[in-house]
Amino acid sequence: MNKLIRATAFAADKHRNQRRKDADASPYINHPVALADVLANEGNVDDETVLIAAILHDTVEDTDTSMEELLVQFGQQVADIVAEVTDDKTLPKAERKRLQVEHAPHISRGAKLVKLADKICNLRDIAACPPANWSVERKREYFAWAKAVVDGLRGVHPVLEAVFEKAYEAEPSA
Ligand code: NDP
Ligand code: ZN
Repeated sequence: MNKLIRATAFAADKHRNQRRKDADASPYINHPVALADVLANEGNVDDETVLIAAILHDTVEDTDTSMEELLVQFGQQVADIVAEVTDDKTLPKAERKRLQVEHAPHISRGAKLVKLADKICNLRDIAACPPANWSVERKREYFAWAKAVVDGLRGVHPVLEAVFEKAYEAEPSA
């Protein structure tokens, strides 16, 4: 529990100047906290390593946090999961999206759980508080891509996969 709280404080500090893309520019930290909430309270996931990795999942991709910092502060297992869900930002966006689909079947169970929760939370956000100025077409593209990633993870956690399906039902219609 103490380590999970430390990870939450760490992520809150790292994301302190960031906002989500919704019209209200919600605090970014709401998103990693939502992932941990989905995993723990909708999926009954009680693996501390997975919950901590969920809290930290966007720190390397979206802040100045290094893998080394995560390794020292939270250990190898947490750092490994975060590494597995971190996109290579030197690649073009379309290539990063393609690689997520390609890699999904081959990542660890912990990384699959974090990725599944990430897609559940992002679909919910797109339905309830979408990035400002996104067309219906762009939202639908995101839904289709998220489904393609999750199709590659199937079998990891049937309850959370059903939660994903439920979120997917809110796909915006043209
Ligand atoms: P993304 O599709 O990557 O943006 C979505 C990401 O933003 C999410 O994965 C999430 O990432 C984060 N995010 C922050 N706030 C929200 C929110 N409120 N709701 C949901 N997600 C949120 O956008 P990019 O600008 O990077 O564009 C990438 C792709 O979009 C390109 O490959 C391009 O093909 C396509 N595109 C389509 C257009 C169209 O009109 N059809 C126009 C322009 C681009 P995280 O979990 O990491 O925070
Ligand atoms: Zn995320």
